[in-house]
Amino acid sequence: MVIYNTLTRKKEEFQPVEDGKVKIYFCGMTLQESPHVGHMRAFIFADVMRRYFEYKGYEVTYIQNFTDIDDKVIEKSREEGRDYRVITQEFEREYMEVSDALNIKRPLLFPRATQHIKEIIELIQKLEQKGFAYAVGGDVYFRVRAFKDYGKLSWRNIDELISGARVEVDPKKKDPLDFALWKSAKEGEPYWESPWGKGRPGWHIECSAMSMHYLGETFDIHGGGNDLIFPHHENEIAQSEAATGRTFARYWVHNAMVNIKGDKMSKSLKNFVPVKELLQKYEPDVIRYFLVSSHYRSPIDYSGELLEQAKSSYERIRNFLERGEEEEPLKEDLSEFEHAMDDDFNTSRALAAVFDMIRKGNTEPSLEPRMRGAVRRAMEILGFRLERKKLEGKEFIEILVDVRSELRKRKEWELADLIRERLKEKGVVLEDTKEGTHWRIE
Ligand SMILES: [Zn+2]
Repeated sequence: MVIYNTLTRKKEEFQPVEDGKVKIYFCGMTLQESPHVGHMRAFIFADVMRRYFEYKGYEVTYIQNFTDIDDKVIEKSREEGRDYRVITQEFEREYMEVSDALNIKRPLLFPRATQHIKEIIELIQKLEQKGFAYAVGGDVYFRVRAFKDYGKLSWRNIDELISGARVEVDPKKKDPLDFALWKSAKEGEPYWESPWGKGRPGWHIECSAMSMHYLGETFDIHGGGNDLIFPHHENEIAQSEAATGRTFARYWVHNAMVNIKGDKMSKSLKNFVPVKELLQKYEPDVIRYFLVSSHYRSPIDYSGELLEQAKSSYERIRNFLERGEEEEPLKEDLSEFEHAMDDDFNTSRALAAVFDMIRKGNTEPSLEPRMRGAVRRAMEILGFRLERKKLEGKEFIEILVDVRSELRKRKEWELADLIRERLKEKGVVLEDTKEGTHWRIE
């Protein structure tokens, strides 16, 4: 099994730290906005990765955090004039609803930054003792130049970073590259007591502290959207490895973005599609299909047309499953699917393998039940629920109209009229013509 590692920019054979176990930390939501399609792409990718490891027999420990205190959360709280805890609680609830609807398995736990202030403070103190951090007033900064590997994940060197000049100028920093580990509280902001006074953690240190607290100093996989590579993940590596002197995460996996007309879907560009809204229009499986039909490292262009295509492809698979008996598949029936998944979770090729199974079942009737079993197994590994299609109101009316026609043929007038009356009460008007019964909604 190979995984593309952002750190080496190569596909590498997967070797866990501990035999038979996989420890994964994935950066979760900042609780100040509704989850949109771009966010859920990341979490569905992580879910597929996790399910595939489980299918391969690994014991998976999967942790995904919630950032419940940072600049954006405070900004939102100020804008709305409401306590940040109320706001983050609301967005957490919405995230859980959407995530459960999409059949994303829950992590072992969802640590929140505000529950880990103690671990965060201890980590910053360790960095101070080792000379990697310095306090100025109530703020603490990480000394980037002291960490010689800085830039190894994003493949940038320090000189490039300086000429990039997008580093904000802050007179308190000894070097413009340094970043905040702890921020002193301004008037009216939430704060915690610390050795540096009242303040709160910086965003990057939260993830370093929580991931190492639950998974150990060195763990297998750290992931997130590729917009987190720099500076977030670069800074996480610097803080963690400076503090422990050990490798932090062995494999770094990053999914590509969801774009709309060439721009990244994001709150700041106001071009985002909340998943809650999309779920009113599409079944969760269709949304999942849309997001896993591309390989996770390829960008996806969001459009209604592509969603419709995903819907019809997904329905072809479900129709095949609903058409008849199923038998237990043989190991070899899934080998193409596994090859694709073993190659850096290539879900796009894995779905092509599913369509090959369907073709095989369609051309060799004796294999059809076994192919159905194989299709179901493969789709379940990818996290699909494969629920039977729900009866729509229209279809239900048509069934009633058919039954009524049958009753009329048998001259069961009383029952036929009862159906007509009851439908009329619901605004469905029946009209009997020579060609049969028509209906309309009034
Ligand atoms: Zn993070």
